[in-house]
Amino acid sequence: MSNEKPIIILDRDGVINYDSDQYIKTLDEWQPIPGSIKSIAALSKAGFQVYVATNQSGVARGYYTIDTLNKMHAKMQQLVEDEGGTFAGIHYCPHGPDDNCSCRKPKAGMIETIEQELGVNFNTTPAIMVGDSKRDLEAGIARGCKVVLVLTGKGRDTQYKNMDFHFNVFTDLAAFTLETLFKYQ
Ligand SMILES: [Mg+2]
Ligand SMILES: [Zn+2]
Repeated sequence: MSNEKPIIILDRDGVINYDSDQYIKTLDEWQPIPGSIKSIAALSKAGFQVYVATNQSGVARGYYTIDTLNKMHAKMQQLVEDEGGTFAGIHYCPHGPDDNCSCRKPKAGMIETIEQELGVNFNTTPAIMVGDSKRDLEAGIARGCKVVLVLTGKGRDTQYKNMDFHFNVFTDLAAFTLETLFKYQ
């Protein structure tokens, strides 16, 4: 087994922060799931590169602006920095389902962008996509990532509907993090 630390790519809503069927539209509505911020910081401090790849069709739907979205991500980044860590990058798709963009998961555009930034291919450089929805898993699998389902957000529902996928399951981002830190210590 290679001890090369995998690149870690996180979905946002339902993984890092609480999700809502009404979308996360304001800075106040963006609230971290317990343990998620410390998890990201711990992974970062242990030498993992942690990225975010998040669908944000609420922008295309007019529920919130790119400016508000950037403020949410500045808050998220600041919270992680307060714990001594950092994100390697935060990528979002602002498009709607009918825009036919190449970045909205289950398409793999955001993951490809990360590969290009790093100058690697995830078929040969290990990467793990962590999400709570089927489309997160599909996007990760499309680019050769290992995929992890967390049971926060929509995860519980996703688990029982996609038993044919080859994913690992963790209660939440904190449980995934502890296992990963243990495995690559
Ligand atoms: Mg999600
Ligand atoms: Zn897009």
